[in-house]
Amino acid sequence: MEKNEILVVYGVHPAEMAGKIAEEARLAELIGDKKKRIGLKPNLVVARPAEEGATTHPEIAAGLIDYLQKNGFTNIVILEGSWVGDNTQDAFRNCGYAELARQKKVELIDTQLDKAKPYDCKGMKIEICDSARAVEFMINLPVMKGHCQTLLTCALKNNKGIIPDREKRRFHSLGLHKPIAHLNTAVRNDFILVDGICGDLDFEEGGNPVPAGRIFAARDPVLCDAWAAEQMGYAVSEIPYIGLAEKLGLGVGDPKKAAVRELNQPGGAAKVGKAAQPGGKVRELAQYVEEAEACSACYAALIFALSRMDRNELARLKGKIAIGQGFRGKKGVLGVGRCTQGFTASCPGCPPSGAEVLGFLREQMN
Ligand code: SF4
Repeated sequence: MEKNEILVVYGVHPAEMAGKIAEEARLAELIGDKKKRIGLKPNLVVARPAEEGATTHPEIAAGLIDYLQKNGFTNIVILEGSWVGDNTQDAFRNCGYAELARQKKVELIDTQLDKAKPYDCKGMKIEICDSARAVEFMINLPVMKGHCQTLLTCALKNNKGIIPDREKRRFHSLGLHKPIAHLNTAVRNDFILVDGICGDLDFEEGGNPVPAGRIFAARDPVLCDAWAAEQMGYAVSEIPYIGLAEKLGLGVGDPKKAAVRELNQPGGAAKVGKAAQPGGKVRELAQYVEEAEACSACYAALIFALSRMDRNELARLKGKIAIGQGFRGKKGVLGVGRCTQGFTASCPGCPPSGAEVLGFLREQMN
């Protein structure tokens, strides 16, 4: 897998999807030496199961561990520290990681209990946990989801789980963006596998999961987050830590520069209604949508776009927005996705990104 690539797989079986993406990325070749200490860093910010939109599906870690062990890698650890105020041990138990570690015989490290040392992160001193620094190949497993302060959390911000609690508090006092960017100059992001199965609409604690039935891999954490921002309907400029990380030389902040490779088609298994149940805010936005056999990733792009619109804009929508394979070959007024190309106005893409849908809807209103 090349540094500018993003590999995408759609579906409803996260373990299989993770294995498929690892094979296609030739992850074993990227790691190299079989003796390397490999770290898996999920997002277990709170002790709530992945279906609620906040935490990484343990099945993704399971699929990866199976792949790694099959390829002769045995020195594997899962490491994470929940946010201040939550207990990582509870998260390990409630999110299925304690059981996973037992079954697969891998070490589980609670970074809240770890020691840490300060490192020079290109102009900022930041403490980083010893266990994370000891890892020789880090696989970052973030959830693509909304965040109440930074709008988006994905790869770059997920590394906040490998700093001590006192440092997490300081990050908040510094406004998050700058320290997040600087932290990533001293931590590893060797391979990133993003859980886009049902990340939350706008809150890092979950509660409003948006079923999207997708995971994607990247090697450039900045490009990864820039592309994720676009999927969620944001311009990269709205999320300052992406641009700051690019300035620090950590990667490319222009999602248009991503070479996206889809390993299957969204029209397969991941249909709306078969993935996780959407949350209350998502159901509220669904009143503007007429859905017929829509793929989850397409539907999610529309929901993310609608969530970016204010009440006045939503009130100006004339009629419902059609989406889904059930509209293929049909006529109508306003539709999203290639399946509605017979409509008077249709947003192209299969699936389109949230940003593309948002731009299209605003254009129609004007
Ligand atoms: S355009 Fe149609 S086939 Fe493509 S993702 Fe959307 S609903 Fe699925």
